[in-house]
Amino acid sequence: MATIPWLVDVLRGAGVQVVVEGDWLNRMRPGSFDPIGVLWHHTAATSSATNPHPALNICINGRPDLAGPLCQALVDYHGVFHVISAGRCNHAGASRGSGPIPAGDGNTLMIGWEIDYNGVDQEMTAAQYNASIAATAAVLTRLGRDASHARGHRETSTTGKIDPSFIDLNVMRSDVAAKMAGGTAWSSIVDNSTAGRFTASANWGISSYSGQRYGADYRYADPVAASDPAWYRFNVPAAGNYRVDAWWPANSGYNSAAPYIVATTTGNRTVTVDQRVTGGQWRTLGTFALPAGDANRVAVSRWTTGTGLVIADAVRLTRV
Ligand SMILES: [Zn+2]
Repeated sequence: MATIPWLVDVLRGAGVQVVVEGDWLNRMRPGSFDPIGVLWHHTAATSSATNPHPALNICINGRPDLAGPLCQALVDYHGVFHVISAGRCNHAGASRGSGPIPAGDGNTLMIGWEIDYNGVDQEMTAAQYNASIAATAAVLTRLGRDASHARGHRETSTTGKIDPSFIDLNVMRSDVAAKMAGGTAWSSIVDNSTAGRFTASANWGISSYSGQRYGADYRYADPVAASDPAWYRFNVPAAGNYRVDAWWPANSGYNSAAPYIVATTTGNRTVTVDQRVTGGQWRTLGTFALPAGDANRVAVSRWTTGTGLVIADAVRLTRV
């Protein structure tokens, strides 16, 4: 049986924070292990800043109906990888086949990350997402496999698993691919706190209420039938096509139809999103032709018939 004793070094080399959990090199299930991919899960446990890894013990020791270890690593609330095993784990069950991953024994075919969030009314944190992207890219590079070998349990499960909830797995794979490309794909993030690149009037309040925020805080404003947008300025390196992603914390009190405006080479384009749902992750607004230069490129508008607070958190451009 193969093992992956290189896992800790590869994660640290990718800038991922690692905690080694005891005798990880020798803690594993008997049976075959020859991974060609990485599988993302959520634990269904509710994590928090003060209780960042509630499912860690069960992932190490298992539960009455399923022997541990239950994953190669658990990703805590702060994005720290707790490395549990260098070998086979009980995380995937049978694979029905997904992308390049064939039908068969999922525990042989894949390395598993258990991302510690409940997946029902809690989504993964920015730290969990960013660390999981970096870790997945580094491990697939080590395995000599491309980003299509990153899958979610709900894609491979034969028993109706829903994890990892709230994540767009195609965006996840494109983020892994960009990471693996080693910076050859230009990408830039502007958060509401990015100096000199975010402007909004004083009508936009500042909040750190939602744990799904990107960075320390975000801005919010009531809808109004007037022009008072929050702008994100980017230094676009060359004219071309760019994917625009937005990140907002979701809440039932946030806007049901928040307008994002993209200033393209052929005029402004508007995309509305429902900020009551799918928070705490990058969501793709579309791919747009943008001119070169340093200018306001993306805005969040308050002018909407939607109800609830309009949120302005982070925006990302990626050249495609
Ligand atoms: Zn799972």
